[in-house]
Amino acid sequence: MKNFIKVVLSGLLLFSAYSCSKQEEFTESIFVDEPELTPDIKTYKFDKWLEDNYLIPYNLDFRYKLPEIDSDIDYNLVPTRLDKSMDMAILIKYLWFDVYGKIVSEDFLKTNGPRIIKLIGSPAYNPSLGTMILGTAEGGIEVTLYRCNELSSTNVDMMNEYYFKTMHHEFAHILQQQKTPPKEFDNYSAGYYDPTGWQNRTASEAASIGCVSPYASSQPREDFVEVIAVYIVKSDAQWQALLDLASKPGVNASGQTVANNLPMRGDDIIKAKLEICRKWLAEAWGVDLDAMHKEVQERQKQIDDAINQGLSEINAIN
Ligand SMILES: [Zn+2]
Repeated sequence: MKNFIKVVLSGLLLFSAYSCSKQEEFTESIFVDEPELTPDIKTYKFDKWLEDNYLIPYNLDFRYKLPEIDSDIDYNLVPTRLDKSMDMAILIKYLWFDVYGKIVSEDFLKTNGPRIIKLIGSPAYNPSLGTMILGTAEGGIEVTLYRCNELSSTNVDMMNEYYFKTMHHEFAHILQQQKTPPKEFDNYSAGYYDPTGWQNRTASEAASIGCVSPYASSQPREDFVEVIAVYIVKSDAQWQALLDLASKPGVNASGQTVANNLPMRGDDIIKAKLEICRKWLAEAWGVDLDAMHKEVQERQKQIDDAINQGLSEINAIN
């Protein structure tokens, strides 16, 4: 069963919704109808921490309580447990917001970041396709992360695969929705994108056609953000292992070699794509991708400390 459950990250393009909000200077919160936060609420300490760390600095509503009206009714979804919500909120700040704050600028995510982050406890399965959705970015203002009840802070690779890669993937969609990446990117694996059959590809097959993951081989716009997200979260050794895999012929799930007619080897394609992403992030956004990668790698070594510090901040709230 596990082989049939592949990962889908989707970015819904709703350009108009973003352009409206971007015009406005947000001096006042757009979430004026939220109920007032008072100490008699059971989750007061955490909610206050969210207010101090997301709402006030980033005008961002961090939604973990999953009101029914606010979830996708096409799926059976469950809310995220409180302890997992706390860990996620702390780690999203530590591995995403604080990284941009340090590497790019304090204002970067205040201007370009999402206005809503939503946590869902369960995955959203697509049984007919054998896939599951791990994240969505809508209209440049909302990022949803699924499967949050499975969070385990002891397994960095698992967290990267299911949450942090998803987070950077979705945020790269938000940036991509505003400034079009170079069209040249789409040429490298042209003819081999497969929007409906990508989930049947192995990592080896995808790498051999110059894609950093099977999902990256679904379509160029997904490929583009996957390069950025995978490069940020993978260690140097893991990235090198991916390039090594991509330098060899692709092997499918049945163990057969799958040939392709691309003029370049998979590893050279991935390097060329990374260079395009690196240049676009630097020139269009002033983001140093290598500095981001380095900072995230350092932070990933201190995840437990970050969680403990965040939890003591929450506990210290009166
Ligand atoms: Zn996507």
